[in-house]
Amino acid sequence: MSELEDVYTEVITEHSRCQENKRHLACATCALKGHNPSCGDEITLEINVEDGIVKDAAFTGAGCAISQASTDIMIDLMRGKTVEEARGLTDKFMAMIKREITSEEELADLEEAIALKNISHMPARVKCAMLAWRTLKEALEK
Ligand SMILES: [Zn+2]
Repeated sequence: MSELEDVYTEVITEHSRCQENKRHLACATCALKGHNPSCGDEITLEINVEDGIVKDAAFTGAGCAISQASTDIMIDLMRGKTVEEARGLTDKFMAMIKREITSEEELADLEEAIALKNISHMPARVKCAMLAWRTLKEALEK
């Protein structure tokens, strides 16, 4: 199996085509742009935080399949989480990509985002996978 086939799992392909989270939020409390110049990925992440809970999130923008899938998967995962949980999951995702956490058991609460685990073996694509999560982290700090 080639490295690419290994990474482009069905989950990633599916999420990169999914349009459900690609929209504007009516009452976004925070919109933040993320840019990955090494690939040309650009997203604007919109999140609606109320009473410390991520009520909704959405994004617009364009980029490669990995960046789009990663953003879509992240939004699905974050909806309904507390800001604290969202921060924890973001840190865990980054630790997974940096291969600081490798145990599937420990990564279980990342749910579908685990499909991006093998990106860590493709240094050129790491920034694509991280873009949305970096942007979210910054947005949650505000
Ligand atoms: Zn990319």
